[in-house]
Formats: sequence, structure tokens, C-alpha cells
Amino acid sequence: MIPKKIAQNARLKGLNLVGSGDILHERWGKYIKELNKFDEGIFEYGKVYFILQAEVEDRNRVHHLIFFPSFSKVEELREIFSRYGNLNDGRPKINLDGSEILEYCKNSDCEIGFAHAFTPYFGLYSKYDSYKDCYKDWKQIFFMELGLSADTGMADKIKELHELTFLSCSDSHSPWPHRLGREVTIIETRDISYDEIMNSIKNKKVKLNIKLNPKEGKYHRTRCRDCLTFFSLSDAKSYKFKCPSCGGIIKKGVFDRIEELKDSDFSPGHRPKCLHIIPLSEIISIVIERNVLSEEVQKIWRKLVEKHGNEIKILTNNLEYENEIEKKVFEFIKLFRENKINYVPGGAGEYGKIIPPWKKEKMKIWKNGRVNEIEINEEISFEKGQAFLSDYI
Ligand code: ZN
Repeated sequence: MIPKKIAQNARLKGLNLVGSGDILHERWGKYIKELNKFDEGIFEYGKVYFILQAEVEDRNRVHHLIFFPSFSKVEELREIFSRYGNLNDGRPKINLDGSEILEYCKNSDCEIGFAHAFTPYFGLYSKYDSYKDCYKDWKQIFFMELGLSADTGMADKIKELHELTFLSCSDSHSPWPHRLGREVTIIETRDISYDEIMNSIKNKKVKLNIKLNPKEGKYHRTRCRDCLTFFSLSDAKSYKFKCPSCGGIIKKGVFDRIEELKDSDFSPGHRPKCLHIIPLSEIISIVIERNVLSEEVQKIWRKLVEKHGNEIKILTNNLEYENEIEKKVFEFIKLFRENKINYVPGGAGEYGKIIPPWKKEKMKIWKNGRVNEIEINEEISFEKGQAFLSDYI
């Protein structure tokens, strides 16, 4: 996961701009500095642009995203934050609260928002009922990042978020094609510069959020960490988040956290569409029944993206197939668009699983005081008065 490798794979995915990640880490910063300087806050390699950016954890275990206009501002904040935590320890934990971090960022002309807003361990909404409780000067906040387990429609159920721009980012920890660029934000800008990109985000010029189905996210539904049984929120609460089946800890899912906070049932007019995708290499892995990291899958992936330009193009256009593999892959994309793909949703740190219509798969759900094994397309109701689970799965 070095910048040059990220740039090579970003081009094949169809990305123009990627976040540098971890820019407060001194040695990582040196790697980014070695790229071509395009603008004070933008570095370039092979026509892929890197924006200076970091994610930090505050004293209350909330994660924040920071964008920096230049390396001198990175150094300024590095100097300040290093008094409150070890910046050379991967994702830095800073012994300040959200308001204090915001204040330091604004004093250094940096922009800040919150990352994976709803996730149970480090999302803002796992600690607060309002982002205005995390940041005293909340008017300075104009974006947040959705995280893999939520999408636009879910997040807009919280009215105060209507004011913010939503970013969809991969937070990729590896350059593999099912990780890098698994989520994308399309932003309208006149050119590529730090100011222009920040102005577009501020002025709600995001054109499209491209995301995995939130069911694929690791924290989508409420689930036991040990036996992976799904629970309704009211059951989980009545068992005090201790699994009645195995004694494990039940982790509240993003879906239920948003239901708790829900005070709106529409999206604001400025909100762009949200397009769900499945990474192409995962589709290939399913149709040829090989591991996503296998050489066969990677070879087919590379051939397809090199032929058609990039991955986003293949996933978002109707293409004519020319051989057997393309036929299988394009037909799968069509099934996905027609909503015929099922999922075992993610939860408790476990990614969701894609289930093609020709496959049978079971999942465990707590119902009527016991664990029930159900086929994922069975019509079962979670509890009285609540929507059918199959509406969501
Ligand atoms: Zn359990």
C-alpha cells in the first residue's frame, strides 16, 4: 500500500482523486511528498491526484476526517497534536475532545468532519445523539463520511444531517480492487485544487455517491459478536446486549442506531443520488467460484478493466458482452441492478455476504425466545409491529 501502487490501481478503478490517508504520520508523509507537487495541497502520480488528509481519534473515541491545504499546515498541526498523542502510531489517538480538535483545525485553515458517522465503536453517533453535541462550534462542520454500513437514504432519516454534504469513501487498508475505490464520491469541480474541491464539498456540488449496499457493511445489523445471531433492537435491549444463546456481546447495528434517532422521512432537495455497486472482482469471484484474491480472479479483472477503460465504467454502463466470461459478469451486474441479489447482512464486525439467486444460504435470527435458522429469502417477521426483515435483506 504505497502511493505509487495506490495510483496504479486507482487508475484501473477509474478514480482521479484519492485521500492520502495518515498524513500526520511523518514517514508516510515523506512518501506522499516524493510524488509530483501539483498544487500546495495536491500531489500527483500517473494522473491520479492525492489530497492531504488524515483520520484521527479523539478522547471520546470519535473519529474525525481532516483535510489539509498544504504540507506546512500538516506540519503545524503535527506539532500541536503530537503534544496530545503519538502521531506515528498508525491512526493517531489525540487526547482532546471534538471541539478542541475542530478549533485547532480551523486555526490552521484545515477542514474537519466526522468519519463513518454511525459505526458502533468509533462513529460520532455511537457517542452522541447529535453532532452538535460533539462540536461546540458545529457551524464549521459541512461534511461527514457515511461509512460502509449506511447509505444516503439511511443517513437522511436524521434531520440535522440534511445540512451536510455526504462523502462516501473506501477507507481502504489494501490496494486490492475489491477494497480500493469500493466507495466513490463524484464531485463537480472546475479544476483540481484544494480550494476548488473544498468549495465544491461546502457548496453541495457532490453529483453522486457510489456505495456498496450497506448490508455489506461490517456493522449494518444488530448481532452477537460470538455466535453471529441477529437480534431486533428491543430483544437486544431486553437482554442488556448479552447474547441469551452463547453469552457473547451483542453489538448494536448502524441500521438500528439510525432507527433510534430517526426524525425525518425524506432527503433534502440538494442530496445527490446514491448508487449501490458490487466490486467487479467480487462479481468475478462469485461467477467463476474462486477466491477474490486468487490469481484467476485478478487476471480476469485486469483484462476486463484494461479492455473497457476502468472498473466504474463497467459497473455503471450497459455493455455488450463478447465472450463467455463477460456474458456471466454483465448478466450478474444486470441481476444486481434488478435487485435480484440477496445478502446475509453484516454485523458485529463481520462483513455482509453476497448471495446470488442460484445459491441457498442460511442465517441465524433470534425470534420467539430462541435461535432460528432461516433461509435468507424466507418471509419472516422480526417482531410484531416492525417491518418484515426481508424488506431489508
Ligand atoms: Zn451469541
